[in-house]
Amino acid sequence: MDKSDPWITPGELSGLTESPTYAETMNWLEKLVADSENLKLVTIGQSEQNRPIQMVIASKDQEFEATKLSTSKKPLIFFQAGIHAGEIDGKDAGMMLLRDISQGRKAALLDDANLLFIPILNVDGHERRSEFGRVNQRGPREMGWRTNAQNLNLNRDYTKLETSGVHAVARVINEFDPDLYIDIHVTDGADYQYDITYGFVESGGYSPEISKWLKTNFKPEVDQALQDQGHIPGPLLFAANGNDFSQGNVAFSFSPRFSHTYGDIRHLPSILIENHSLKPFEQRVLGTYVFLEQTIKTVSKHFASLQEAVKSDKNKTFNEVPVKFGFRENPTDSMEFLGITSRKDSSVITGNEYVVWEGEKVTKLIPNLLMDNPMESVKVPKGYWIPAEWQTIIQKMKSHGIKMDILEKAKKLNLEFSKIDLYQMSDQPYEGLMRFQSFEITDLTRTVTLQPGSAFVKTDQELGELVVILMEPESIDSFFQWGYFNSILTQTEYMESYIMEPLIAKMLAEDEELRNRFEEEKKSNPEFKNSPRDIYAWFYAQTPYLDQNWKVVPIGREW
Ligand SMILES: [Zn+2]
Repeated sequence: MDKSDPWITPGELSGLTESPTYAETMNWLEKLVADSENLKLVTIGQSEQNRPIQMVIASKDQEFEATKLSTSKKPLIFFQAGIHAGEIDGKDAGMMLLRDISQGRKAALLDDANLLFIPILNVDGHERRSEFGRVNQRGPREMGWRTNAQNLNLNRDYTKLETSGVHAVARVINEFDPDLYIDIHVTDGADYQYDITYGFVESGGYSPEISKWLKTNFKPEVDQALQDQGHIPGPLLFAANGNDFSQGNVAFSFSPRFSHTYGDIRHLPSILIENHSLKPFEQRVLGTYVFLEQTIKTVSKHFASLQEAVKSDKNKTFNEVPVKFGFRENPTDSMEFLGITSRKDSSVITGNEYVVWEGEKVTKLIPNLLMDNPMESVKVPKGYWIPAEWQTIIQKMKSHGIKMDILEKAKKLNLEFSKIDLYQMSDQPYEGLMRFQSFEITDLTRTVTLQPGSAFVKTDQELGELVVILMEPESIDSFFQWGYFNSILTQTEYMESYIMEPLIAKMLAEDEELRNRFEEEKKSNPEFKNSPRDIYAWFYAQTPYLDQNWKVVPIGREW
């Protein structure tokens, strides 16, 4: 790029060694948008530190309304950069691509596609910038911070929706209904030859037809385009042993708290790009540019078959939903791996044995360990009732775009609930919330009266699988496991011993069956026998005085 070109990006002006600040980025984009009828800049949210989160819309038909774009005959491609703000390649690549599209050279890319582009999603993290943001990454010189101003990781927030950034993304997805979604990152970790790694849910997901389309229509063309430009595309890479790849690669099973798996469960074709942190910023930005350009071409070309795949996944019926995936029992898959030679050194300081990358290219066959085996599934009820008092949950369901019927008059219903028995909380918070380490569940059926404002969520809807994984306690991304119902764990009434003692005596005298059960319990459980506290609790539980809501997850299943 000629440095005197008026449309040179701030990144290009530095020879792609620097990446512009939020203000520089937005100023530059505002000028670009002002100079083209095909571009529009919109604010999609407000960050925790009150910065506008902005999105560029590109459309040759100059249709910028969500209703128009969602029903357009052209595909709508949605890509976002800076969800982890230090991993910013997508911003600089997107600026260059929009410039080339709007200033003529690549205008044809808009003939058969419309675009949505968030240049910086985690805007506050982006402004926490310095030379010390990401020690493992080769450029740009100053990098932003991974998490947002509240230290929350946006790419763990797709189910719980606690950050303004992901909230904004969910709204864009609901309103604009894009046809393809791309989330652009930079890796940490091992060395290898690949510069542009990327992935999508290939198997063991919720949208099998979309997975097939991405594998057969999308991937070959994007890989070819990258290779033609001298890049080395590869799959998402996670060393099985945590350092070198001698034990193979793990094709990790993400859950819907991650962007691309959230897309998968919503039947929105979604891709996670992870550029290699050890490759120079310039190379990564140029690779991202090629990726995005080819994505537009490929989606335009194969849009009909993509729409078929999406339709088929949206209309798929399901009686069960997997909530946990694990490794295959007999892993036989292997992959050709373009690695870098390494040796293990022993540290004289810490005594630790660590991997040192030696820089020589090496190609080897390694095991590819697929985590696509459904380990646990839940049966799908007709729907779930969320009582009015859990408005936070009802609002989050709404933010996901899930359809609900809201109760106008109080209603008596016979529903199934999950009751938590033994449980253990994690010893530290995760993403600001106290989650469970372990718990046991039994189901019970009760008649309850739900108040106006309660919500009924049918599972027979396009987002049905998402409904199930948010509602079912067994699912790791359920609101229950995220800790939103932790208040149900506290017992708030009790019985004084001087009330208990005569009551227990009376109960034992009047009920032979209870007497036998008590003797049985003492015999089988010596700890119980010697604990007055446990004995009181045991008898208390036999009385109608015990809180019937204690440890009962308040989501009711209607079968
Ligand atoms: Zn990342």
